[in-house]
Order: sequence, then structure tokens, then C-alpha cells
Amino acid sequence: MTHLMNTYNRLPIAFTHGKGARLYDEQGNEYLDALAGIAVNGLGHAHPRLTAALTEQVSRLIHTSNVYRVREQETLADRICALSGMQEVFFANSGSEANEAALKLVRFLGYKRGIEAQTIVMERAWHGRTLATLAATGSDKARKGFDPFPTGFVSVRYNDIDAVQRAGDADSRVAAVWLEVLQGEGGIYVADLDYVRALRRLCDDRGWLLMIDEVQSGIGRTGKWFAHQWAGIKPDVMTLAKGLGSGVPVGACVAAGPAAGVFGPGNHGTTFGGGPLAMRSGIETLEIIEKERLMENAVAQGDLIIGGLKRRLAAVRGVTQIRGMGLMIGIELDRPCGELVRQALDAGLLINVTHDNVIRMLPPLILSAEEAELIVERLAPLIVALLRSQSDVNSKTTAKAA
Ligand code: PLP
Repeated sequence: MTHLMNTYNRLPIAFTHGKGARLYDEQGNEYLDALAGIAVNGLGHAHPRLTAALTEQVSRLIHTSNVYRVREQETLADRICALSGMQEVFFANSGSEANEAALKLVRFLGYKRGIEAQTIVMERAWHGRTLATLAATGSDKARKGFDPFPTGFVSVRYNDIDAVQRAGDADSRVAAVWLEVLQGEGGIYVADLDYVRALRRLCDDRGWLLMIDEVQSGIGRTGKWFAHQWAGIKPDVMTLAKGLGSGVPVGACVAAGPAAGVFGPGNHGTTFGGGPLAMRSGIETLEIIEKERLMENAVAQGDLIIGGLKRRLAAVRGVTQIRGMGLMIGIELDRPCGELVRQALDAGLLINVTHDNVIRMLPPLILSAEEAELIVERLAPLIVALLRSQSDVNSKTTAKAA
């Protein structure tokens, strides 16, 4: 028993330290980390350069507040704008908060235009756990019991441009379209790049903001700084978190074009957001990703993992699809497979299952080729065994019934 609120089904394990893509538990057992703190620890654990920079920062300055200029904040905003081609940044402390800022921005733009702005969102989307981001999130399970929600959202089918067009035709107050280029929590569904480009054109034609949630897919994870860059487009609003701080909490709402200059002093704010420690972590993270060519590595190791999994699993009955981009990888089965998380843990591998039947892996960007192969070696037999044992049970039950 602990005094923690019962919000998580935690695995019965605690880690004491990590190094690279490895974590060590209280008994000294080693695990290969294919989850990276849910896409947060892109640099792995205890990266020497990040450790040194954070230690230096902590010894000098952790927090001052947004009452004053924060030089590290200005530097990180410059870097993010240079990498994205966008214009301005509001720093928050998490993905949900970055998304709240984005939603407030749409509403405030609507207010200035004299409309109650509506945002088109996607089925299976995941944008966070605050009330507004949950209202925009397409998970009935996460939303259940939390009515009443803030209004202002229209949900449409993902990857379906006609559905977006129809929703826009039906309501003249639509002011924005919001999506993940890869749906992470929703089950690693990847949008067609043509669809993303068509959305850009549609938003331009109709004067809507194109908003992209890169909280999970951003900061090099798919092999580009931001997943939407694979489509060669630029959003008006982009949100970041997770990998940006390498574990130090940080979120960012980035704006460009019609979305820039919307807020003035007093329209939005935060006590902690953009503090020197989180900003330093962001600055170092981006520099390390660039210097160590980690985006190229994400593509190479992602290809190794997906290729290896396909070789060993593609013909196995019960494996529906193996998909992903870079180091954002999903294996969809035709049945729930939550128990695999515990089985993988026992085999020394940290993974996750989302949407009940999608095994999800988000390894650190520093993963080596040997580690990529080890992931496949440890995971593939577990999936085969799970599917076989359940087929055996099914055929025995059928035989009995007959
Ligand atoms: N947006 C996306 C795409 C996410 O994957 C998540 C978290 O999983 C969030 C937003 C919410 O981020 P946070 O948990 O930091 O509030």
C-alpha cells in the first residue's frame, strides 16, 4: 500500500539508474528500454553531455519566473523556429499544457474574428488529459465519466480529407484542423503524406489554422525534426513536449503565419513554463541530436526493427500489421495483448501496449544496431507464443464444443 492516488496500473518494478538504452532495477537486473519513458528519453539515460549541462545549470540557476527575461528561453525558441521555419513559441511544462495553449490560441483568434471558433479533430486522436485536451481526444475510455467537457470540437475520421471538408461545410465557425501525423496513443496509425498535404491546401483555401500535435512524434523520433516535415509542409501551430526536454518536463506551443502574434501580455501564462533548467535541457537535447546524427540513426534502427519483425512475424496468423516511422513502431494483433508487457519485462525488454491490441515501441534515438536486433530477438518469440497459446485454447474450446 502507498499513499498514491490509484491512477496507474503500475508494473511491480522500480529502477535505480540507467545508461544509454539500458535500465537497472532495485535487484540489479538489466532491461533494454524500448519505451524511453514513453518517447521522452530520446538521448537514452544518463547521457554524459546532458548530465554535465544540467548539473552546471542546477548549480547556477533553476528558476526565476516569466516576470523576467529568460535567456535560455529565447535561445531555445530561436532554435525551434530555425528548425521548423515557424515564428514564435510559448513554453509550458507538458504536452497537455502545450496543447491547451494551442486551443486557447484558436479560440482567441476566433474571438478577434467575431466567431466561436470550432476545431476539427480526429477519431482516435490523443491530445492530453486536461479537460479541453481530453475533449479533443478520441478515446471513449479516457473520457468516460468526465462530462461536462468544453465544447468547440468536431471529430472526423482520420486520414479522410472528404470528412474534413464535409465538417467544414457544415459549420462556418470552423477555424482550425488539428491532428497528429502519426497517432501515437491511438495505435501508431500513420497518415498518408498526400492527406497531410491536402489538409494544408484545404486550410489555406478556407482560412483555417493547420495545427499539428508533435508531442510524441517530434524531436527527431521519426527521422525528421518534426513528422510533418516528411510531407514537406509547415503547420500554423505545432505543439511539442516529451523528447524536447529529455526527461526534464517541458512543452512548447509554436506558431506561424496567422497564428503568430495572436496573444498579448496577460492572455496566457505559466509559473514554471520556460524555466532555465528545462530550457537548458531543450537546447542541449537539440544540439546532441544534431551532433550525434540521431535522426539518421532513428531511421536506420527503425528500419532494422521493422524489417526484423516483418521477417519473423509477417506470416504469423494473428499479426495484422507492422507499421511505423523511424523509432515510433507499432505491431497490431487481431486480439488484445496487454499481457505481453509483463512477459516482455520478464524477458528484459520494456515495451507498451496501446489501444488494447497494438504493441508499441518508442526506443531512444541513441539505440545501437545490436540493441535494435535484440529488441526483435526478445519480442518476436513472445508474440508468436502468445498467438499460438491462444489459438490452442480456441481450437481446444472448439473441439470440446463439437
Ligand atoms: N499529445 C500527444 C500526441 C501525446 O502523445 C500526449 C501524451 O501521450 C499528449 C499530447 C499529452 O502529453 P502530456 O502527457 O505530457 O500531457
